[in-house]
Amino acid sequence: MSRLRERGRSGKRRSALWTGTLLILAIGVALLVYLWPDRGPLAVAPSPSPTPTPTPTPVPRVAQEFKMTGLDKGWIRYSDGVNGAGVKGVVLESTQDGGATWTPTSDTALAAEPTPAPDALEPFWLPPADKAIASLTFEGKEQKVRQAQFLTARIGWALTEERAKLDRPLLVTADGGTTWSATVTPDVTKAVQDELAHRAAIRREAALYSSPDAAKTALGKGWQLFPETTYPGDAVLVRYDGPGTVAWEGVTYKLQPYESGYFTYLPMPMSVKPGPYYIGDKTLTVKAKKFDTQYLVVTEQMEAMKQDTARIAADQKKIDLARSKSAPEFLFTSEFMKPIEGRLTTPYGYTRYVNNKYDSSHLAVDLAAPTGTPIHATNDGVVVLAEMLYLTGNAIYLDHGMGLFSQYAHMSELKVKVGDRVKKGDVIGLVGTTGFSTGPHLHFTFWMHNVQANPDLFFNSMPFRWALK
Ligand SMILES: [Zn+2]
Repeated sequence: MSRLRERGRSGKRRSALWTGTLLILAIGVALLVYLWPDRGPLAVAPSPSPTPTPTPTPVPRVAQEFKMTGLDKGWIRYSDGVNGAGVKGVVLESTQDGGATWTPTSDTALAAEPTPAPDALEPFWLPPADKAIASLTFEGKEQKVRQAQFLTARIGWALTEERAKLDRPLLVTADGGTTWSATVTPDVTKAVQDELAHRAAIRREAALYSSPDAAKTALGKGWQLFPETTYPGDAVLVRYDGPGTVAWEGVTYKLQPYESGYFTYLPMPMSVKPGPYYIGDKTLTVKAKKFDTQYLVVTEQMEAMKQDTARIAADQKKIDLARSKSAPEFLFTSEFMKPIEGRLTTPYGYTRYVNNKYDSSHLAVDLAAPTGTPIHATNDGVVVLAEMLYLTGNAIYLDHGMGLFSQYAHMSELKVKVGDRVKKGDVIGLVGTTGFSTGPHLHFTFWMHNVQANPDLFFNSMPFRWALK
């Protein structure tokens, strides 16, 4: 019993000691924690309800400037803010697709883009300096314009004060600024494509002139006459920037579209009177020209050939049919060449007497050469007639488009057939003396809307270069 009591007493004493030690320890820890300079992870001090991770207030980026460097290329520079997608620090974006999409880029990347080769015609087709506009109407509201850039009279871009902080700040117009859109609409895309096609057409047409300077003089300048001074028996090429017609010597010629212009040839009949004529807003000067006379002596049998009017009329029908249609485009892209290097026996326009009787004006050149000499196509074209005719013998007509034909006569042999496409210089026949002919030669001329035109105008040249050599 006593042992038990004793144990009980000594147990009480031990637990009191234990409690004391714990108390001192607790106070020590509390003191330590209280005095700990840093209040580190041990802190158990009461704290207010936990605060969420602080999110910085988005600073909207602000479009500061832009530049369209082409119809489909450009860039926008922003202040260094946070864009709508939470991306910070995008300061430069560029487009390669006419503003449909914009992607982050850098000055270094922009500078590394290949610079297109300088184009001699570029200044010609770039529109006049940017149209300055102070405000524009968008979604029914007037907006103050910070910066605007017109690439053509129709296509323009603008940055307004109201839109500068938006993720897509630029507005675009395809109608010269009447209506503006925040997205690239099908109308804008079409306007850009039309403009690119127009520029390509200008480039192709410009290649037909003697030099880029000559093209600059002719293109986009209203009515143009190539040349402005002409002679009976010659021809003129008329160019205008739009559709229209030209009334000339009793015939109305419709201007035909080709590349960036509208064209017609005007033949100068031998009967045209010298003097000034008005074509569009240009003056065409026709000067007098003296043509020599040639006396030809032929056998009676040959002379009689011209009396078979029925055969002559039947041939004329074929010729008229062949020349009734012409390709609606210029089929050549370079100068015309002489079909043979022959000896000129009858120049163009000679008044010809056969056996002392007036016959006709010889509206062709006669080039004498040995039988069998190859005859070359004067330029690219399509064979519209190739057959033996009564007066002209073996004859060929080539269509060079837009109403221009070349004619070759008296050949010993035809080397092409109707429908063949020929290239300049191709051999189309051989020199001969078939039909109404006194010896081997090539009778060669041009026809324009069914009127003859002097071949001398064409050799080593072409209608686009007549005024601009
Ligand atoms: Zn002849």
